[in-house]
Amino acid sequence: MLFSDISVIDHLGQSWEHMYLATAGNSIVWLDSQPPPAELVEGGEVYDGKDKVLLPGLYNMHCHVPMTLLRGYGEGLPLQRWLEEKMYPFEALMDAEDMYWGTLLGVYEMLASGVVSFSDMYMRLDGIFQAVLESGIKANLNNPLTGDDNTDIRRDIAYLEVEQLIKDCATTEGRIIAEAGLHAEYTSSERVVRDVVAWAKEQNLQLQVHLSETQKEHEECKQRHQGLTPAAYLDSFGFFDQPTVAAHGVYLEDQDLELLREREVTIAHCPSSNLKLGSGIASVANFLRHGVAVTIGTDGAASNNNLNMIEEISLAILLAKGVNRDPSLMVATDILPIVSSNGAKAQGRCDCGSLEVGARADLFVLNLARPHLQPVYDLAANVFCSGQSADVVLTMVDGQVLYRDGSATFIDLERVLFEVNRIRAEKLRQLS
Ligand SMILES: [Zn+2]
Repeated sequence: MLFSDISVIDHLGQSWEHMYLATAGNSIVWLDSQPPPAELVEGGEVYDGKDKVLLPGLYNMHCHVPMTLLRGYGEGLPLQRWLEEKMYPFEALMDAEDMYWGTLLGVYEMLASGVVSFSDMYMRLDGIFQAVLESGIKANLNNPLTGDDNTDIRRDIAYLEVEQLIKDCATTEGRIIAEAGLHAEYTSSERVVRDVVAWAKEQNLQLQVHLSETQKEHEECKQRHQGLTPAAYLDSFGFFDQPTVAAHGVYLEDQDLELLREREVTIAHCPSSNLKLGSGIASVANFLRHGVAVTIGTDGAASNNNLNMIEEISLAILLAKGVNRDPSLMVATDILPIVSSNGAKAQGRCDCGSLEVGARADLFVLNLARPHLQPVYDLAANVFCSGQSADVVLTMVDGQVLYRDGSATFIDLERVLFEVNRIRAEKLRQLS
């Protein structure tokens, strides 16, 4: 496919007009201000780039994708009641087929906002895996461990599901990656943390964890563990010896950030979820000051309430500027690596996340011929501060168009909407 005469913003935040980008197979084979030689793009589609801008595909680095089924359920409750009275009882009724439909709904939303890959924590992984496989998107999946001193993780369903997922992923050529997960310090005993670390090392799995999301979690950890913060506590078990994505980090202290930088941990900043659940506002400016790798995640749709990455990025930009009273923060050269190459690196995808010849053809195109996107002085500002996900007209993963002009290639939206409403009605009946 040849994107002809199109504006481009790359993974470093540099932008150009009148560019030519060609893909062949799963890779980018040409990126230049001159058209490629005819033989390079012979027989492929030519995409007219007039009034369009092409960017590297976005990475949604923290999600619980089937929670689309719980969107808007239990609104207005404080966190603990929201979890115990609404989320947990509903989730206990969800089977693998429910996960499949909830995942397709969530992946549709993500593709429609330029996302090419996501990191996810949830259960009944077979249903999630099947939906991800069919949709064409990339994902790093895990079912996070929790438990007390009596928990033998190797008998736990979360462990068994991930072990099966490792086998299932072997045939996906790296498109879907199995990871180990620890839900959080406050939901795990020392034994569980130690065993998860040993397992991750044994199987060489990357890790995902919720870290210092709320003040309560952060302070109670210090009380429980002789002043150790959640980051310091996990580090004492060698947790960060494996590549790790830590979600939230709202209450990370300066010494935690030094530790995370040294251990090359990536933070998934989830501003909407932190605001909605009243957790607070993470200091991205401080993360960047300490040189910690930052990415952005939507979290699940129950605490957001959507999986719209364009909106999430826009919010992250505004919050960083506002909270720090510094409009120079989060300009294009900060944002683009955060939403593309940092995510690819954290997911262990070394040939992804950049717009350059030889990289995987993971990208999205936005239509600039919209009233709120004209005129253009600063292309990246128009995309992320004026843009809406409805302006996304094409999303490509591994050289394959997965979303175009309002439709996902491999997801039947009408069927998905029917199924999720069937599931909603069934669950409400069972819960009443
Ligand atoms: Zn989460």
